[in-house]
Amino acid sequence: MALDGHVPGGPLEQKWERHQFELKLVNPANKRNHRLIVVGTGLAGAAAAASLGELGYNVLSFCLQDSPRRAHSIAAQGGINAAKNYQNDGDSVFRLFYDTIKGGDYRAREANVYRLAQISANIIDQCAAQGVPFAREYGGTLANRSFGGAQVSRTFYARGQTGQQLLLGAYSALMRQANAGKVTLFPRREMLELVLVDGQARGIVVRNLVTGQLESYAADAVLLATGGYGNAFYLSTNAKNCNVTATWRAHKKGAFFANPCFTQIHPTCIPVSGSYQAKLTLMSESLRNDGRVWVPRQGGDTRPPGQVPENERDYFLERRYPSFGNLVPRDVASRAAKAVCDEGRGVGSTGRAVYLDFADALKRDGEELVRQKYGNLFQMYEEITTEDPYKTPMRIYPAVHYTMGGLWVDYDLMSNIPGLFVLGEANFSDHGANRLGASALMQGLADGYFVIPYTIGGYLAGHPLPPVASDHPAFKDAEREAGERTKKLLAVSGSRTVDEFHRELGLLLWDYCGMSRNTSGLQEVRQKIGEIREEFWQNVTVTGSPGELNQTLERAGRVADFMEFGETMVNDALARDESCGGHFREEHQTEEGEAVRDDENFAHVAAWEFNGVGVEPTLHKESLIFENVSLMQRSYK
Ligand SMILES: Cc1cc2nc3c(=O)[nH]c(=O)nc-3n(C[C@H](O)[C@H](O)[C@H](O)COP(=O)(O)OP(=O)(O)OC[C@H]3O[C@@H](n4cnc5c(N)ncnc54)[C@H](O)[C@@H]3O)c2cc1C
Repeated sequence: MALDGHVPGGPLEQKWERHQFELKLVNPANKRNHRLIVVGTGLAGAAAAASLGELGYNVLSFCLQDSPRRAHSIAAQGGINAAKNYQNDGDSVFRLFYDTIKGGDYRAREANVYRLAQISANIIDQCAAQGVPFAREYGGTLANRSFGGAQVSRTFYARGQTGQQLLLGAYSALMRQANAGKVTLFPRREMLELVLVDGQARGIVVRNLVTGQLESYAADAVLLATGGYGNAFYLSTNAKNCNVTATWRAHKKGAFFANPCFTQIHPTCIPVSGSYQAKLTLMSESLRNDGRVWVPRQGGDTRPPGQVPENERDYFLERRYPSFGNLVPRDVASRAAKAVCDEGRGVGSTGRAVYLDFADALKRDGEELVRQKYGNLFQMYEEITTEDPYKTPMRIYPAVHYTMGGLWVDYDLMSNIPGLFVLGEANFSDHGANRLGASALMQGLADGYFVIPYTIGGYLAGHPLPPVASDHPAFKDAEREAGERTKKLLAVSGSRTVDEFHRELGLLLWDYCGMSRNTSGLQEVRQKIGEIREEFWQNVTVTGSPGELNQTLERAGRVADFMEFGETMVNDALARDESCGGHFREEHQTEEGEAVRDDENFAHVAAWEFNGVGVEPTLHKESLIFENVSLMQRSYK
């Protein structure tokens, strides 16, 4: 089936404004009669719930954590992009649009990306008005720094804690509505099932994580803002409870999963140091503003970095990409780091690391200035590695960080299930095959503060919504389904832990469907995933009982979903027989190791329809039409 993204007509610059006008409105008195469910309280979910409450809708807001403000968004470090052109360095809405389309290797929908660039400026105003303490210049204007894939400085930041500060802003707006009675908070709840009535999304079933009871909630529409699925790889920079469960369960109810193989591997993370590790730590991309990436010219050089003379160092990003240097996009920087390590020139005890060196910046700007910009990141690095980055270069290596794939949505952020909207990292929409740094926060807040408040009204006003309550049989069926799954998990009573299975799956995905992929490896791993999944259901051990706080059970449910999802990710990687962005198929590369796209056959979004566990899903395609940029081989040279 050819999918329609419902992109409005007219010139690119006028599409959103025109669409806003053409969308039907819900009058203020009627807004009171609508109830909306928002799952997730990260930047996308909190912004949406607060904005919809402010508009007068009744909002039910769900999250896993004990407080909405503990969502994974709080971890975001480096910043948020906006085309304000405060630096007068040549930025514009069109340039942000262009950089994002190019950075995503021409695999995103033009109209969505342009709208994102347009809205970016409003986000900064909104957040500054909320009191978000963005860094400022001496004269009081907001400061900017550079991020990868751009030659302008358009990244707004609050030291290395931008996500935390933005989330506190969104949380304040959310709590204002909670106090006003427009938003009801449901923390410590895990959505397990999406409930459809007559083909429309009309509610959810959640597990109360404290009491273990299943609860049903009905509404006129359901919004998922449940984040990304990077933890499928076990080791990632994501918070430990990031998962695919909400989107996967919606997928099993008919929502298409788009581009699941588009995973972002971030070049600057603290390298893996041992098999005991359950999590990796990001070193923000902002560090590449001043840090220089290098390895020794000769393989097997074990001298401490300070003893390697300048002419025996290879600043490989500056050498290969003189225009963008250390600020090439993440996929390009990650692959270049992998390549020098594969050549045997990696550093550290494992040989799987490269240096990120601040010696020049410290000499040029002085320690105080470097501390002001990156102090908390340096401190974090020292606490984890016991090495002082003011004295010796950081050691870094790529790690799983973000997922560009997600549930398929149209221009209105609605999935193919009427009434199911998907926001933030959980949808596939704006970043194509590679996200540029500082663009996830921008997208999450754009979706929540500025897009959904309009498009949800269009849906509610344009569709008949007969009354549905949580005693409808569809809720009972969904509760039964969720309960049976839990019983099944507890009944296995095997001998391997949930984490052991997760680790095995994650390492396989990393090795075969990570930074580079090839046909035979993908075919092999697809079979292996099937085997692990089978073993999981025969040999996993899940302790405790369903009717209590049971974190082993929570993890088991999520890992079971990763095991089903992993196969879809691999199917997608196999079907996309080209290299693009973070999806690097070894069969398709230039002599210099750059990705080679196949625009003739793959300029589309691949959206998968679920047909059963272990059964080949059906592929639907949305063609990507480029009218405002020409498709070119990406070059950062
Ligand atoms: C270490 C790190 C640093 C980053 N730094 C930056 C940066 O500087 N700039 C940038 O642009 N991006 C950055 N990113 C990416 C960015 O932080 C995320 O993409 C973004 O915050 C995701 O926001 P979200 O609202 O979509 O989801 P999240 O913040 O992940 O929130 C998901 C929400 O859904 C809830 N949830 C999930 N599943 C369920 C379920 N089944 N039932 C109920 N609730 C559920 C969770 O409780 C949570 O409230 C960074 C990412 C990492 C890992």
